[in-house]
Amino acid sequence: MFPAKRMRRLRKSERLRSLVREAEVTKGDLIYPIFVQEGIGRREAIAAMPGQYRLPLGGLRKEARELVDLGIPGVILFGIPARKDAKGSQAYAPRGIVQRAVAEMKAEVGEDLLVITDVCLCEYTSHGHCGIVKGGKVLNDPTLELLAKTAVSHAKAGADMVAPSDMMDGRVGAIRSALDEAGCEETLIMSYAAKYASAFYGPFREAAGSVPSFGDRKGYQMDPGNSDEALREVLLDLEEGADIVMVKPALAYLDVIYRVKNEFLAPTAAYNVSGEYAIVKAAAEKGYGDEKRMVMEVLTAIKRAGADIILTYHAKDAAGWL
Ligand SMILES: [Zn+2]
Repeated sequence: MFPAKRMRRLRKSERLRSLVREAEVTKGDLIYPIFVQEGIGRREAIAAMPGQYRLPLGGLRKEARELVDLGIPGVILFGIPARKDAKGSQAYAPRGIVQRAVAEMKAEVGEDLLVITDVCLCEYTSHGHCGIVKGGKVLNDPTLELLAKTAVSHAKAGADMVAPSDMMDGRVGAIRSALDEAGCEETLIMSYAAKYASAFYGPFREAAGSVPSFGDRKGYQMDPGNSDEALREVLLDLEEGADIVMVKPALAYLDVIYRVKNEFLAPTAAYNVSGEYAIVKAAAEKGYGDEKRMVMEVLTAIKRAGADIILTYHAKDAAGWL
């Protein structure tokens, strides 16, 4: 007890603090999300996400090289097709925008960068929902086949990992079987296992043009009040064959990350989403806080909560600071 016990002794220099620090973010933890848009000639700034862009196909080689040079181990690709239809057919077209983007990046950097693809239909459907719609409802089972087809087409294009984000029931199992049948048994699955119906996705939807034309996604994404349910979702995805499970968003769901990591001891990813990014950028712009310190504190908190992997739009800045 005080004065024999003094907690401040361990805090008095950076050398001591560094010796006893429990959680630390490294470059190797980061994945950078990239938006690639079909039919544009040059990159376009995303207004709600300062510093982020929709990239043309022709800009991906340079981007891939830059990420490798920064020491970032992986990217996750989101595609914005030139044409959308009710069945999201550009999601699984062999020459679709993401398929070509994967090939382009791999041609430049090969094994030096993990290329992960988001697997969903919402950026490709005319109605903006993550599945097949009939009578105003998003149908689960008919959607699985299209998701599996999408995942296989990404793997065939060279993706190292596919990341289903749709929250349909049974999709991880459907994708695993389809990949194995197609001879892609080495392709990993990172499932968006606990994805919440969140208001923090706003800027992303502007970036990807995936605002639903009717209704919302609460019928398939999780209710923010629940965390037991997140554990059940994660359990199912692991049983269906997920290699990595993800919690999304990150900052408002640190307790969920903590529970998932503690319960399953599985590789756990957290998605530091567009709205979380936009808040930090806006505060920094207004002079309400130091950007570098806020970013590193956010990323450290996500790591401390139990995430092994952080998907973040801050990845390039953070890698530059680390
Ligand atoms: Zn979706």
